[in-house]
Order: sequence, then structure tokens, then C-alpha cells
Amino acid sequence: MEKMKVLVYHGPGRLEVEQWELPHPGPGEVRVKIQYCAVCGSDLGAYKNASDRFRPPLILGHEFSGIVDELGEGVDTLRLGQHVCGNPPIYCGKCWYCRHGHYNICPNRLSLGNSVGVDKCNGTFAEYIVLPAFTLVPLPDNVNLLHGSLMEPLAVGYHAAQNGNFQKGETVTVIGAGPIGLMTILSLRALGAGKILCSDLSEARLQLAAQLGAHVPVNIKEQDLLEVVRRETDGLGSDRTIICTDAPSSFYQAIAATRSCGDVVLVGMIQSKIEFCPMDIFGRDINIISSYTFTDEILEAVEMVSQGKIPLEPMISSIYSLDHGKAAFDALAAPGNKEVKVVVDIWGNQKGTAKWRE
Ligand code: NAD
Ligand code: ZN
Repeated sequence: MEKMKVLVYHGPGRLEVEQWELPHPGPGEVRVKIQYCAVCGSDLGAYKNASDRFRPPLILGHEFSGIVDELGEGVDTLRLGQHVCGNPPIYCGKCWYCRHGHYNICPNRLSLGNSVGVDKCNGTFAEYIVLPAFTLVPLPDNVNLLHGSLMEPLAVGYHAAQNGNFQKGETVTVIGAGPIGLMTILSLRALGAGKILCSDLSEARLQLAAQLGAHVPVNIKEQDLLEVVRRETDGLGSDRTIICTDAPSSFYQAIAATRSCGDVVLVGMIQSKIEFCPMDIFGRDINIISSYTFTDEILEAVEMVSQGKIPLEPMISSIYSLDHGKAAFDALAAPGNKEVKVVVDIWGNQKGTAKWRE
């Protein structure tokens, strides 16, 4: 039996390299030789704490790129050797949500690298994966595979950036400069936002936010976000505020920082109950927009990268081999670390380059 190397999650703190059976594609499916898989905050969450969303044993990972390696019967939308990235939900295509374009929340879906859907579904910290062809997104020749692994988190930020009533030139406040906030800033800049403010507690992240396009970085340990927003908008407030952190207080800040009739976009997964008076929202005609993952926005995000409008290289801080996959997670879990996106390089293509870690 042919084997492939995979990184298996066996519960918090436990990731082990194993040999699993090499899969072959069935009708409508494709086998992808994975090249890169980036660690998502949600993968890291599973590594830190047990969750029903990640039932071990499980191969984590959904931020990937790879090369089409074997075609199943009837697949004519992709060719052997094609470079691809992925759109994680494996949706049914038949339910009301799928028929209306909301396949990201298909109730019958499987979701790559977690147990969120109808069953658990192994992900892409592996040498190979078999997926339905419809979940794969071709990468243009001028987008390299390393950057291709970041299309998924980019699409989250890209969708959030223009969700609702986005207008070119508008002033936007992004709360939180983690990978998702930074991807949102990159997208806002590419989409033609006017002034971009960004708040965080980490000076290093704010510096990167400024490098990537935030005009006004706000360290909330030293400055009051509301005061800065008012100063920067002649007292009006932001046209939109995008919440890219799970801190409950960010919800109140976002409402207060946004002008009346503006958009508050909720991307951060605030997990606790929060109290608010609906009049504070309704009385100012504020639109609260939830932005859960994305659908075909990933196609536009890939196109933006291909056109050179979104530079992804600064997002990558470290690269590890699959054998050292656990070290990639440990690097991100270390207190006070300066990592942004950490990528696992399945075949060691980047060995010896500046971001390679042993
Ligand atoms: P992260 O934890 O790396 O980044 C969050 C950042 O927010 C950190 O830099 C932190 O210092 C900062 N922060 C914390 N409290 C803050 C505050 N009060 N004001 C300003 N900044 C503050 O997380 P990430 O990977 O960037 O993800 C951000 C959020 O987006 C998470 O909640 C994640 O679950 C969520 N997420 C949502 C989707 C979606 O589809 N909607 C997809 C992926 C991630
Ligand atoms: Zn469906």
C-alpha cells in the first residue's frame, strides 16, 4: 500500500507525524500534492484548548496551496500540474443556501481540517489530499505557491473589507492587527479605501499594519481609540469599522467609533455574551454586518494578488518543514512571539531561505 506523510492532531499540545494510506480520487474529485499549508488562528486554538470543532484524531489545516496530481473520472475543469488553492467548505450544492450562493454556511457541508460540518474532515497538513474539484481555485502563473497558501485568510479579509456598503475613499477603522486584521488592511488598500485606522495592543503588529497600508496605527495601551477616530474624522466617526479581534469590548468600541448610518463589520469571533442597548444602534441607523468566511470573493482576492495589488510576502514570518510541524505551532503559541503567518512547507522547497526554521 502506498503511503503519505501527514501531521495528526491528537488533542491539545499533541501533533504527530504519521504515515497514512495515499488516497486516490473518485468521480468528480482531484488529488492535490500539497505544497504549503499555513497555520490558522483556529488551528492554533485547537492546539491550545480542546474543542468540539476539532475532534481528534484529525489532520488540521485549510490554508493551503498545491499541484493537481491525479484527476478523478469526469473532471474537466482542472488539468494535471495545475497550481491551486482551496475554498474550505465541501458543500452540498442543493440546499437553499447553496442555491442562493451562501455555500459557506451550507448545513450539509464538511469543512476542511475541522469537525464543524456534518462530520469531521481531514485537512491539509499532509503530503496529499483528495477533494471535490469544485472546491479548488486555480492560481495564475504569476502567483507563487507559497503566497497561494494565504489566499484563504486573504479572502476572509477581502470579504470583510467590502462587505455591506463599501465605497472607495471611505475612512475605515480596523480593530485588531492579527493576521485577519492585516489581510483586511491589505484588501482595503487594494480596494481604494481612503484613510485606514488600525488599533491593537502590540507595537510590532501595529508597525506591520502601517507598513501594509494603515495610515493611523493606534496603540490602545497608550491612546484612546475613540479620541483618535474623532480627531481623524473631524468628529464624524469612521464610515465603517471592522472588528478583527475576539475582545468583547471591541463591539462597544466599534459602535462608538462608527458614524451614524455607517457599517460595523463583525469578523472576530466574540464568544461571550455582551450587553447592549439596541437603541444605540437603531437610533443611529448603524448597520451591523456579519462576515463569516467568504464564498466566491476568493476569486477576486486571487485576481488582486495576480495584479500585484496585494503583497503577501510581509505576512509570512516563519516557514517550517512538515517533520517540524509541531514546532510551527509551538512558535505561534509561545508567549510574546512576533510571528504573523507561519507556513508549513510540505516538501521543503524553501529550505535554506531567510524564513526557514529548523
Ligand atoms: P489574532 O488573535 O492573531 O489577532 C487578534 C489581534 O487583536 C491581536 O493582535 C491582539 O493583540 C488584538 N487585540 C486584542 N484585543 C484588542 C482590542 N481590544 N483592541 C484592538 N486589538 C485587540 O487573531 P486573527 O487570526 O487575526 O483573527 C482575528 C479574529 O477573526 C479572531 O476572533 C478569529 O476567530 C476571527 N476569524 C474570523 C473569520 C471569519 O470568517 N469571520 C475567519 C478567521 C478568523
Ligand atoms: Zn448546501
